[in-house]
Amino acid sequence: MTTTYKICLLAGDGIGPEIIAEGVKVLNAVGAKYDTAFEYTDALIGGAAIDATGEPLPTATLDAARASDAVLLAAVGGPKWDTTDPAAPRPEQGLLGIRKELGLYTNLRPVQIFNALADASTLRPEIVDGVDMMIVRELTGGLYFGRRERFYDEPAAGVNGAPGQRAYDTLEYSEYEIERIARQAFEIARKRRGKVTSVDKANVLETSRLWREIVHRVHDADYADVELEDLLVDNTAMQLINRPADFDVVVTENMFGDILSDEAAQITGSLGMLASASLGDGVALYEPSHGSAPDIAGRGIANPLAQILSVEMMLRYSFGMGEAADDIRRAVTEVLDAGWRTGDIKDAETPVDKVVGTAKMGDLVVEHL
Ligand code: ATP
Ligand code: MG
Repeated sequence: MTTTYKICLLAGDGIGPEIIAEGVKVLNAVGAKYDTAFEYTDALIGGAAIDATGEPLPTATLDAARASDAVLLAAVGGPKWDTTDPAAPRPEQGLLGIRKELGLYTNLRPVQIFNALADASTLRPEIVDGVDMMIVRELTGGLYFGRRERFYDEPAAGVNGAPGQRAYDTLEYSEYEIERIARQAFEIARKRRGKVTSVDKANVLETSRLWREIVHRVHDADYADVELEDLLVDNTAMQLINRPADFDVVVTENMFGDILSDEAAQITGSLGMLASASLGDGVALYEPSHGSAPDIAGRGIANPLAQILSVEMMLRYSFGMGEAADDIRRAVTEVLDAGWRTGDIKDAETPVDKVVGTAKMGDLVVEHL
């Protein structure tokens, strides 16, 4: 019997419509091969939604997302909607809004090196060889959502004891928030190489001591089969550069995850190759890590591989289609090994007849499937 999944497509702005078409192409090929039907609903988000309705996240879009089994997003934003008017709607509000409305507290960022592109890395080939890690970042708590305040004209807060400003932010986590992200990390590790590195600053921060305690409690109770190591965040920053291939799943709080995932992305060296997933308790959202690339929009030259790899994540995490997901990764690897490149990942040695556009790159992946 054919299984059917409903997918909400949010093409957004810039290169969004061009790259999402390639994601759909790959989904259709997977559907045919694995006896699965994908039904699509297009909805508006970002600048495209502002132009059509005046708002970056129309209610109809949220309804369509909630009625689907997964959301595939491309990118939002562009200079057309840049404004200095603080009251004007902005495309990015659509993205933050949908993350919040869908309760997407887990952000997954896979950091994988395709050996054919190892030269693009900022690190040496022998260090990046075999890098394949998943950063699991808590996305709706911690310092970015804590109480904050700024005080003006405080006695002695200025230079030389003069009155000046003082400010604070609050880093706060509950057991509940830590437990649910820890469970996500352990579940993901079970589907990978079975190892979790929990990153904190437990030698200094009380939130980190609670973090460590809860992560171990969840581990010992339900995930003793997964290997668990604790690493201080400063040490992690070093080890990501020294021995990136040793990491499997890295789980951490919001701000540490923000910083470490940007650091880790540099290991692969190519923005056009990185996908991401945001998961909650309901429908999940999958998107490339890069933006809408307005500078190359409409020219058919954007790299669709980050979008295609976000489809891989959707199959794996929303539909339990691990085999089909592996198949996409294999196809992408083969296309790159065969020397095919979009403009952003070509180098001086790439022959001109191996440089392809957006649609051709999608076709090549489908051929290899
Ligand atoms: P955002 O704020 O939305 O993240 P950004 O300012 O970081 O946007 P991007 O849109 O990610 O910028 O683009 C950064 C650069 O990378 C641009 O030069 C863009 O053309 C290029 N780029 C981004 N994505 C791709 C892609 N898929 N294929 C080719 N080039 C890309
Ligand atoms: Mg950016």
